[in-house]
Amino acid sequence: MTPRGGAVLTLAVLAVALLVTVAVLIPWSHPPAPRSDQLAALRELPADQVAQAREFRYALRPGGWAALGLGLLVALALGLTPLGSRLVELAGRPLGGHWAAQAVLGGLAVLLVADLLTLPFAAWRHAVLIRYGLATNGWAGWTVDLLKSYAVSAVIGSVALLGFYAVLRLAPRWWWAFGAAGAATLVALLSFVLPVLVEPVFNRFSPMEQGPLRSQLMELADRDGVPVRDVLVADASRRTRAVNAYVSGLGPTRRIVVYDTLLREATPAEVTAVVAHELGHARDRDVPVGTLTGALGAAAAVVALYLLGSWPPLLRLAGVDTVAQPRAFPLLLALVTVAGIVSAPAQALMSRRVEARADAHALALTGDPAAFESMQRRLAAINLADPDPPRWEYLYSASHPSTVERIAAARAYAREVGG
Ligand SMILES: [Zn+2]
Repeated sequence: MTPRGGAVLTLAVLAVALLVTVAVLIPWSHPPAPRSDQLAALRELPADQVAQAREFRYALRPGGWAALGLGLLVALALGLTPLGSRLVELAGRPLGGHWAAQAVLGGLAVLLVADLLTLPFAAWRHAVLIRYGLATNGWAGWTVDLLKSYAVSAVIGSVALLGFYAVLRLAPRWWWAFGAAGAATLVALLSFVLPVLVEPVFNRFSPMEQGPLRSQLMELADRDGVPVRDVLVADASRRTRAVNAYVSGLGPTRRIVVYDTLLREATPAEVTAVVAHELGHARDRDVPVGTLTGALGAAAAVVALYLLGSWPPLLRLAGVDTVAQPRAFPLLLALVTVAGIVSAPAQALMSRRVEARADAHALALTGDPAAFESMQRRLAAINLADPDPPRWEYLYSASHPSTVERIAAARAYAREVGG
């Protein structure tokens, strides 16, 4: 079999596996609550709160979409013209143009340029967050966080770039097969290891003090069949007023993490509702399932890049002879950027379905739809969420059901149980 024939066959197999995984493991059978219930919930929310949230979202919107558009333009300009390949050459030159220097320094240079050009929009976003009182860290704290995230990306990026181009050199004909396996492994590693390694870079965690709430949360996890080792409090208030909680780790390392902001702002029953939602993710294995679809998607992407990357018109545009050299990295990045933008609505849809299932789990576990609903109101108020965002934005990017959908779901549950 030729490498190309093998790649076509592998891509077909991966695509089928991805479709089957998504069809079977994503909870498609729970459609959102009726629109009339959602609108009823919307009418009951304080009008000034809804107006302020919409004003806030309106202020964020131009910067957000402009950053997306500019990011795409920069990726296309670097990948579909010889500009990017020249940048890779230039970055590798101080080390004599060695392939590893081109791969790592060139690759990071391309990523950095793309990031720096959209940096003004990130700063704009932070300015809006400060203006609306959502960000509690000033510009110094914001800059430190930015540099930390650059450092984390540089470390991961270097390893991935070096590994990828080493495989390309070792197996010039069949690299796509090793690359696909490597990409899938990297996704799995990042999903399970990264949270443990990276969380402490950005936040400090301390055990929740002994008391009724802590016992209640441990008991809740136990009753749910999701034993946790500890309940930790993250010092999120250093940078934000936003509230959140999550469950991280696997098996013996599993722990519940609660933002200190959540403890300060919400009642114990509401904190319990949030944690019950997070336990739902753990119980339904949403992280392993997400990792599996991510790994299949990444493997398929590498094979697709190999097939697309040997298409002569693209190579000519990028000014390279083959996709198998570091100078072609900007071309790969452009293709990945386009794929990310095109697949965003599908990813958002799957995420919303998974989140709706975690909500249903929280309602069943706590049996307390009133606390769930008041938590949703509070979440929306604190995070300045538009309770019923514009349809097109919701479809493109909403990772969670809207506030009115979640409230309507809680009421539907209450009706079901009560009647
Ligand atoms: Zn969730």
